Amino acid sequence: MWWRRWLPACLAWGCAAALCGSRGLCPAPNASRPEPGQCPRRRAAELCAWALSSDSLLDPFPVDVIQENYVRNVKNCIFSIVYPTPFKSRVRLVAVSEDVLENILDLDVSVKGSSDFLEFVSGAKVIFGSVPLAHRYGGHQFGSWAGQLGDGRAHLIGVYTNRHGERWELQLKGSGKTPYSRNGDGRALLRSSVREFLCSEAMHYLGIPTSRAASLIVSDDDVWRDQFYNGNIKKERGAIVLRLAKSWFRIGSLEILTHSGELDLLRRLLDFIIQEHFPSIAMNDSNRYLEFFSTVVSETANLIAMWMSVGFAHGVCNTDNFSLLSITIDYGPFGFMDSYDPNFVPNTSDDERKYKIGNQASVGLFNLSKLLQALKPLLDPRQNQLASQILEGYGEYYYSRFTELFKTKLGLLGENENDNFLIAFLLKEFRALQDLGKHKLFSEWVTMYLLRLNSNKGDSDTKRRTRMTTVNPRYILRNWMAESAVQKANLNDFSEVQLLEQVLQHPFQRQEAAERAGYSLHPPAWAKHLKVSCSS
Ligand code: AMP
Ligand code: MG
Repeated sequence: MWWRRWLPACLAWGCAAALCGSRGLCPAPNASRPEPGQCPRRRAAELCAWALSSDSLLDPFPVDVIQENYVRNVKNCIFSIVYPTPFKSRVRLVAVSEDVLENILDLDVSVKGSSDFLEFVSGAKVIFGSVPLAHRYGGHQFGSWAGQLGDGRAHLIGVYTNRHGERWELQLKGSGKTPYSRNGDGRALLRSSVREFLCSEAMHYLGIPTSRAASLIVSDDDVWRDQFYNGNIKKERGAIVLRLAKSWFRIGSLEILTHSGELDLLRRLLDFIIQEHFPSIAMNDSNRYLEFFSTVVSETANLIAMWMSVGFAHGVCNTDNFSLLSITIDYGPFGFMDSYDPNFVPNTSDDERKYKIGNQASVGLFNLSKLLQALKPLLDPRQNQLASQILEGYGEYYYSRFTELFKTKLGLLGENENDNFLIAFLLKEFRALQDLGKHKLFSEWVTMYLLRLNSNKGDSDTKRRTRMTTVNPRYILRNWMAESAVQKANLNDFSEVQLLEQVLQHPFQRQEAAERAGYSLHPPAWAKHLKVSCSS
């Protein structure tokens, strides 16, 4: 459609002044600009030499026919075209991930100092080739069908295909209202954005599949929130994270289409996802939806086992927050356990303790059963039966991944019937390893453990130590660490956000600055009663 291609170029190159009071990124089109979605030959130091493309998301699907930005029920589309709402006040750059800029986005880090960059990552400037979109999805929240949810405060600003041929979808979070904002203001707070920025990057360096974060900005615009839902409404500041994923589609992306009987669109979206993101599945395979389901089941089990291996509780395990690529997305009231407690609930708004850490594996199963429900209209009776069998295998698969990960943490090689006992005992003490020696069964456990280590074939203490230090992190983003960084950031001191961003890039390595900050110690006394809520 001519207007779709005309509009973004126009916005990026000057006519924007007439349309939304904004000006283009560069004074004039630059000969070195790549085609949208293609990588430049070298890292771009200026955004004029850099482009996104939204075509690969717009071309395969019908787009929302309404283009005005007001809250409504949207039908028969995957995306609505909607532009970010820039902040009214000044914005400041809090932090960037240099790794994401350089190695994913092919940008020279010096770009972070430019005003173009600041305007781009705060949603004030539209990059060449970008048509900002809000995705229509639904979801099961806390066990019940919640209907239409969608990107209520996020804009998918385009796809970037980098020098490695990787395709990344860029999303601004906190960038203003969309048709899916329901009663929300379209904004995200500094505190929640610091947590998302830091934790998504930290999870990546822990080796856990996750979305990434490129940048974090804060404005002086007021955002009002009742943090603990107790009537105490406070003024906070709006912030935006530029976040990236290979795909932002969730279980709820498919669910909403099945719920509204849009089965043709369901099939198109599913085929698109399989073609783009599941290369091992052949598009002419009549069992491709079954293969897809089987992959999501095993990868979701794998992801949750990995969460458990670092004591991570997501906090809001709704189907709209469960990625079809089985990566961790939508960081909200998450938490890392300080000591092992299967009843650990990071989200103080979760009164029924539905998403306590010990429930995550079974919640994963529930969410996958909702995925299967969404796929059902596309499966024949035999495939439906096979899909149910695949789902039945989830528990066993999860448990074997969980055991495997914990055996690696303990340095165990091969198989032994007592391994599960060794793991279960250790889990009871988990993080408080300093206190392990006080346990009355400790010496018995050590005897068993040493005996078990003797059965490691071809192993040595040095080899084992090397293996174990690469899987047992010294630093994870505990609540108190994020909170300390947030408190400073509220006063425009972004040093601790930046320090944590650096430290968490090497979670397995002892670092002086991190030791000085106490990041490997028990939480300080002031942090004993820290609470995080859904309010973000
Ligand atoms: P979350 O719990 O952040 O994953 O959000 C659940 C749903 O609520 C999604 O559809 C979000 O887009 C929407 N949402 C959350 N906060 C806001 C907000 N401040 N404004 C608009 N929509 C929001
Ligand atoms: Mg969400």
